[in-house]
Amino acid sequence: MEKNGKGRTYRLISAIYKLCREGEWRVKFTKLRKDVGVIDPERKIIYIDPWKEETLSTFMHECMHVIFGNRKEREVIRLENMLMENISRTQAQRLMLAMAEMMVKIKTKSS
Ligand SMILES: [Zn+2]
Repeated sequence: MEKNGKGRTYRLISAIYKLCREGEWRVKFTKLRKDVGVIDPERKIIYIDPWKEETLSTFMHECMHVIFGNRKEREVIRLENMLMENISRTQAQRLMLAMAEMMVKIKTKSS
């Protein structure tokens, strides 16, 4: 299971779902000068440029930056590629929906 990355893919995607469900981070599409995606940790916003690259791939990449704050760019790219190779159709659909929900979610936390 570990050899083809399916187990690791499952765990990473679960971590991304958790991040989506927590409702603290939002997603915004925007034109970015250089990057395809970027995170703003202070405002908790993931910016994605949908005119470049593959949006789901970028979304997962930026989520991993949020989840593993200290991980090197090269390692995040490696994980992103692994996810894109192993993600199932159902997982991809669910993640796209979760990403869309992060664009419209209104913060209700009062604390
Ligand atoms: Zn990155």
